[in-house]
Amino acid sequence: MDLADLTNALGPAEPAFRAAQIYDAVYRQRVENWEAVSNLPKPLRARLAETLPLGLPAIEKRYVSADGTVRYLLRLADGKTVETVWMPEADRATICISSQVGCAVDCKFCLTARMGLERNLTAGEIVGQVLLAASSQRVTAPVDRLNIVMMGQGEPLLNLANVIKATRLLTDPEGMGIPPRRITLSTAGIVPKIAELGRETIRPKLAISLNASYEDQRRELMPITRKYHLKDLMEACRAYPLRTWEKLTFEYVLLKGVNDNDADARRVVQLLAHLNCKVNLIALNPGPGIPFETPDPARVATFQAIVRRAVPCFVRKPRGLDVFAACGQLKRMELVTIAG
Ligand code: SAH
Repeated sequence: MDLADLTNALGPAEPAFRAAQIYDAVYRQRVENWEAVSNLPKPLRARLAETLPLGLPAIEKRYVSADGTVRYLLRLADGKTVETVWMPEADRATICISSQVGCAVDCKFCLTARMGLERNLTAGEIVGQVLLAASSQRVTAPVDRLNIVMMGQGEPLLNLANVIKATRLLTDPEGMGIPPRRITLSTAGIVPKIAELGRETIRPKLAISLNASYEDQRRELMPITRKYHLKDLMEACRAYPLRTWEKLTFEYVLLKGVNDNDADARRVVQLLAHLNCKVNLIALNPGPGIPFETPDPARVATFQAIVRRAVPCFVRKPRGLDVFAACGQLKRMELVTIAG
C-alpha cells in the first residue's frame, strides 16, 4: 500500500496524519507488528491487527553460503514460497528479489523454469522481500550503499504494474528512499513491455538477458523469444529512453560449446556496438537436470576480451553457489545441513 491506499483503508473517521504515521512505521521503521507502532492509539493498533494484517512474508528457511551470501526461502500469506538473496560485499550489499512465484519464460538453462509460473507477486510481496532482508541483516536507515536487483524468480516485465508500484515504494524518500539508480530490473526481453517501462517516470535501470547472438539459438535457449524476436528487441533497446546517468546492461549466460565461441562473441559485438551499454557475462551455474556445462575460465576470458574491444564487459562473480542462491538456481531447493 502507498499513502493513498492507506488513507483509503483507514477510512474517513481517522485523522489524515494517521496514514502517514503508519506509512513511516512500515517502510522507514520496518516494524514487524502493529503493536510496535507506539504513536498510534491502542484501539487503532488492535483494529489494524484485525483488519489490516501487516502481511510481511515469513522466513521459512535461511541458507548461508561460505561466501556470506544468504538465500531466504520466504513463505507468503497463501502458503506459497519465494526466494530472496542477500549478497554482502566489503562496503555495500545487494538484495536480489523475485517478482513472481516460478516463471513462465522457460529458459533451458534455468532451474526456476522447472517450476512453471505459479502466480504474480503483489507490490507488497515484492517490497516485503526488501523489508525482511533489510531487517534480518540489520540494514540501518537511511539505507546506505544498498542495491536492489529484480533478478530472482520470475519475469518482472510480465508483472509490470506491481513491479512499478513496488519501485515507487522502494524509492520514496518518505519511505525506504532507495535511489532509482540503485535498482535494476532484468528481463528476458518482453519487447512491448520495454517501451511501457520506458514511459514510467520512476523506474529501475534496465538489464536484458541476451544469452544468444542470433535468432535461432535464442529461440532454442529461451522459447519465449519465439514471440519477441531479437530484431525487435534490439529495436526496442535503440528506442529506449535512457536517463543521462544510465546505460543498458546486457546479460549473457555462457554455455560450454553452445554460445561461447569467438564467432558468438563477435556477433554480440555487432548487435551491441552502437548502443550505450555494458555486458555482464555469466558462466553457467549448474543445476540438477540442466543439460549444459560451464565453460572453462580461459574461454570466458577470451570471450570477454573480444566483447570488451567494443563495449565494457564484465564477468559476473557467482554468489552463493553452494546454497543454490546464484543466477538460475532459484527453485526453492531444500538443503540438508549435515551436523558436525
Ligand atoms: N526473467 C528475468 C529475471 C531473471 S534474471 C531475466 O531473464 O532476465 C536471472 C539472470 O540469470 C538472467 O540473466 C538469466 O539469463 C541468468 N541465468 C539463468 N539461469 C542461469 C544459470 N543456470 N547460470 C547462470 N545464469 C543464469
